[in-house]
Amino acid sequence: MFSFELLAQEDRARAGEWVTPHGAIQTPSFVAVGTQGTVKSLSVEDLREIGNQVIITNAYHLHLQPGEDLIEKMGGLHRFMGCQGPLITDSGGFQIFSLGAGKEHGVGKIASIFPEEKDHGGHLRSKTGKPLVKVDEGGVDFISYLDGSSHRFTPEGVIEIGRRLGADIILVLDECTSPLHDYHYTKAAMERTHRWALRALEAFHRTPDSWQALLGIVQGGAYQDLRKESAAFIADQAFDGYAIGGSLGSSKEEMHQVLDWTLSLLPPAKPRHLLGIGEVGDIFEVVKRGVDLFDCVAPTRMARTGTLLVKSAKRFRINILNRQFKDDARPIEEGCRCYTCCHHSRAYIRHLFVAKEVLAIRLATIHNLYFLESLMGQIRAAIRENRFAELAREWLCRS
Ligand SMILES: [Zn+2]
Repeated sequence: MFSFELLAQEDRARAGEWVTPHGAIQTPSFVAVGTQGTVKSLSVEDLREIGNQVIITNAYHLHLQPGEDLIEKMGGLHRFMGCQGPLITDSGGFQIFSLGAGKEHGVGKIASIFPEEKDHGGHLRSKTGKPLVKVDEGGVDFISYLDGSSHRFTPEGVIEIGRRLGADIILVLDECTSPLHDYHYTKAAMERTHRWALRALEAFHRTPDSWQALLGIVQGGAYQDLRKESAAFIADQAFDGYAIGGSLGSSKEEMHQVLDWTLSLLPPAKPRHLLGIGEVGDIFEVVKRGVDLFDCVAPTRMARTGTLLVKSAKRFRINILNRQFKDDARPIEEGCRCYTCCHHSRAYIRHLFVAKEVLAIRLATIHNLYFLESLMGQIRAAIRENRFAELAREWLCRS
């Protein structure tokens, strides 16, 4: 049901095709984040028009609400969401452990490391003062941010949830560490993640005729020996593809190093997914190093605050709330073919944001995702035509 084929390569940048039971994904590809079974404010029809190829949902969030029992009863995630295309479910390891790390290090928000945490705002407090997260060899106990109820995730349990949700691609449960964790903790968490990976694989293969795919996750923080050990270990297991998770360090340089250490050890014939990257500059850097898929909440989250992606702008973004756009009759981006730019002016979109109209969020999200999908289309074409380095130079000299 799954096959991954490399169609072209320019240095380490790869263009390929990942065939799934719900259609093919042309890579490298951006993966839209639909944590709760929806990409905020958009319908699946909107996403199809934008050119979206694949959505990542989250087992942790969907387990807490509405629950895998209900989604299974409703015919599985595809039917529940009305989505025909490929779906991934993240395990929620990142979400669970980001709560713990924030608490443990006395940090409310570790924005650049655990960006997802922002979405929960102030809800992540245990009213009884109990620890939010407690990990042991068997699994992890955590408190629901919705109602304070207690839950436990195990590697086997997450496979079972993934089966019942019914996404095409499932991610294993991992223990995610932050850059604030020291070497010894990061090493212990990585080793536990490896043992959990073996248990997840065993549970996954208990269903012999699976139509789903399972991705292993490389951990090891920003420590060279740990990253390499983790990449080698996870690469050795019979996963259908590999995800790179956890802390990528605290600077761009560290992130590039972590990717270089990791990607050189992963089997070239299988897809590689980087969890949590989506800025334009970063996209060129990760594709250059051989990443095939990446997801990030940034483009949709930015859209909701009026930050819109524009190629000619500094850091590829404008804030539409800025007064200079008050009477600007131009579209968000000249030449953009998205629904928003074909129908509306900057002045109108600014007005919607100022008036706090819900349409503002929808129109802004359409543009930001279209911008990224269009960029990914250009990147894929450039790799196939051996001019990716040229395209990267053309874009990055503007920022
Ligand atoms: Zn547009």
